[in-house]
Amino acid sequence: MQRLALFGSTGSIGRSTLAVVESHPERYAVHTLVARSNVDLLLEQIQQFQPKFVGVTDPKAADKLRQALAGKPFAPTVVSDELEITALAGTPEVNVVVAAIVGAAGLASSLAAARAGKRLLLANKESLVMSGALLMDAVRENGAELLPVDSEHNAIFQCLPPASAAESNGVAELILTASGGPFRTWPASVFDEITPEQACAHPNWSMGRKISVDSATLMNKGLEVIEAHWLFGMPASRISVVVHPQSVVHSMVRFNDGSVLAQMGRPDMRTPIAHALAWPERIDSGVEPLDLFALGPLEFEPPDTKRFPCLQLAYDALEAGGYAPAALNAANEVAVAAFLEGKIRFTDIPRVVSSVLSTTPSGSVCSLEELLEVDAQTRQQAQDEISRLR
Ligand code: NAD
Ligand code: MG
Repeated sequence: MQRLALFGSTGSIGRSTLAVVESHPERYAVHTLVARSNVDLLLEQIQQFQPKFVGVTDPKAADKLRQALAGKPFAPTVVSDELEITALAGTPEVNVVVAAIVGAAGLASSLAAARAGKRLLLANKESLVMSGALLMDAVRENGAELLPVDSEHNAIFQCLPPASAAESNGVAELILTASGGPFRTWPASVFDEITPEQACAHPNWSMGRKISVDSATLMNKGLEVIEAHWLFGMPASRISVVVHPQSVVHSMVRFNDGSVLAQMGRPDMRTPIAHALAWPERIDSGVEPLDLFALGPLEFEPPDTKRFPCLQLAYDALEAGGYAPAALNAANEVAVAAFLEGKIRFTDIPRVVSSVLSTTPSGSVCSLEELLEVDAQTRQQAQDEISRLR
């Protein structure tokens, strides 16, 4: 029996994870649920999955949950202290930690899971972008097992030879596919007028609002290039991006003999989640079979970094190294939040990120403390830039 700690249980990935877990009660039990504030959904999840611990980071929501649970026949321990919530990722009874919090808020629990040597199912790409070296070191030093849930990285993981294969495994290039987002065919002249609702209406995937905006700017693909660099040890020059509007090919690996392996499937996160949960076995994810005859043509086109400068900014940050990816991530989180609140335009997102990146300190990342300091400084800088733009 695998016991799960699910960080971000009320989100899109969290709900998809529980949908897979639900259909395999003989394999998986839920030990811990963590979310920010959605008490109503947490109550439903508690009722159904009966976890031992529930972490709620919003103090008011935690109180509300405690009140709602008072006198119930089944009530888990509710934890609201941030350090205690993070520590839940290292609980001895937990075997699998699912990192599905959105943004930098997911870093502490991802690191704690790695340090405790858990099987870590990583959806929270921001933690790898921020602290790739620290997180990968923690995984190696503590015998943790890092399995990518992000669909592109899960696809590449499925196409790569086993990690134990010789150095000369012939991998020439990782090819990340991108849907192109809702504005793939829109002219740049209308980009200033794009609304948050339009940006969150993704053509193929149903996701949280932050990643939906990231998909619309192509920053999501940029973050994923950095994520692939750390996960698979590839330099930026051997990670490419191809726009594939149908989202059927989830990514590819090109080998030096001319072979290209692709992983295909419906655009449904239950597939990579089930893959990472059961690996190296395979389990039913609940996803309908892919109907090849019902698919139209599959198209592939180069990304347009003029209309979508965020992708290039991410490549630049990866090349610059050191604190640049963390700064890119922090500035992007602040800019996306401001866009969603109607404070800046869609086209201001790359402006904010680019202006912050131009002043990021150089040097390699030594400690989590320094990293968090740069993260905090960058957020302030991004806020200042946003005030100037308004
Ligand atoms: P979401 O907004 O739907 O859910 C976010 C979850 O994180 C919620 O449960 C929320 O309560 C929790 N959360 C937010 N801030 C928190 C905090 N400070 N402390 C504790 N919990 C907090 O987001 P999502 O779409 O599920 O994405 C989650 C992560 O997975 C992101 O990093 C995203 O990039 C990645 N991802 C998502 C998808 C997808 O299809 N949704 C695909 C690939 C990767
Ligand atoms: Mg992805």
